[in-house]
Amino acid sequence: MKVFGSSGTRGVANEALTPEFVLKVAKAAGTVWRSDRVAVARDTRATGEMLADAAASGLASVGANVDRLGIVPTPGAQAYAEREETPVVMITASHNPPKYNGVKLIGDDGVELAVADLERIEQKFLAEKFESVPWSQTGESRHVEGVRREYVEALLDAVDREKIADADLTVAVDPGHGAGALTSPEFFRKLGCRVVTANSQPDGHFPGRNPEPVPENLGDLGRLVAATDADVGIAHDGDADRAIFYDENGEYVEGDATLAALAAAELEPGDSVVSAVNVSQRLVDVADERDAYLELTPIGSTNIITRIRELEKQGKSVPVAGEGNGGIFFPDYRLSRDGAYTAAKFLELLADRPASEVVAPYDGYHNVRINIEYDGDAEREALLAAAEREAQDSDAEMTTLDGYRLDYGDAWVLARPSGTEPMVRIYAEARDEARAEELAEEFEGQLRAAKAEV
Ligand code: MG
Repeated sequence: MKVFGSSGTRGVANEALTPEFVLKVAKAAGTVWRSDRVAVARDTRATGEMLADAAASGLASVGANVDRLGIVPTPGAQAYAEREETPVVMITASHNPPKYNGVKLIGDDGVELAVADLERIEQKFLAEKFESVPWSQTGESRHVEGVRREYVEALLDAVDREKIADADLTVAVDPGHGAGALTSPEFFRKLGCRVVTANSQPDGHFPGRNPEPVPENLGDLGRLVAATDADVGIAHDGDADRAIFYDENGEYVEGDATLAALAAAELEPGDSVVSAVNVSQRLVDVADERDAYLELTPIGSTNIITRIRELEKQGKSVPVAGEGNGGIFFPDYRLSRDGAYTAAKFLELLADRPASEVVAPYDGYHNVRINIEYDGDAEREALLAAAEREAQDSDAEMTTLDGYRLDYGDAWVLARPSGTEPMVRIYAEARDEARAEELAEEFEGQLRAAKAEV
């Protein structure tokens, strides 16, 4: 796909991501969907309203009536789509820096479009074959009120309110000026938590921090937890489909540790859990302990969604899925990542133990990451051929969905070409640091030797 990547399409607003581009995407999507009604929603970005206007305009010109939802977290827009059976054009660049924006397309079942659906829309986009209607059939816009409130109410109904309220928690929330600023603090208050906030004014210039919830952007939250004696810190990305945590000591919790802790609470023997090929050893170990099946997919949330659907079609139970970046699925709740719901599931665990103890079993794993740059196709091919040879020669369990992953039971190593930069990345993880280093360096040695021979 040229136009849509695995998580929609993103670019610097008004440069790559112009109103004209969004207008055409909306016309193409409206033409393929043939729905009488399509909703448009956005996160808090400064260019959000301009681009939402373009989307609404494009949809009306192909005959769709437009529900304008205003600022809503992506999972809130997905809840609206499912409830109203209305597809949504979501204007968001998720965790990207402030100058970016993007378009995400959500089907009338509330789920991100699968690759096959995106390809059909992309074909219309490239061929510019839009279903333009006569003036008298162009769509009308209406502003829909209360979408955020309904989203929060549905969340409250979906979690164990009593358990969370009884835990009497102080929760520090950093929505990072994003769409979650308008829903998450209220949600946690209604759950009976005492809520303190940082960066909680919606602001598309993101004055307090960048939207990506990574430790270098979350110093405020760590300090807020410490200063207020909070039980937990919760941070979202710009569209609040992800949640990242701090423990009661103000320490950052790795996303992989959170995923493992939540999976340990959800998985029963015989269940399946879906994650991407760079999945942490933590989740491998949890699946093992629970007698659950770990199913791997290529990296990217659409691949995870597709695999969950396949497994559910086969009658398998998939209570939890996701990646170590804080984007977690609870498919029995909804087939979307939801930062607020994920946070509430984590709060349920805090009823019994402090956050540091919840994640303690998943501490002490060591990750190694090595990048090998290449210059041109010949070097790239040599690197990948060497990775394949190395994989074939090993006695580990091999997964070749996206690069070469070798699972040794106690450790794993993965070599895969970067999707965005001219390099092959090598990842390795084990509880034992020397073991992870040894596996990564073994791979690195073979790849560097192959590159030197080109
Ligand atoms: Mg996001």
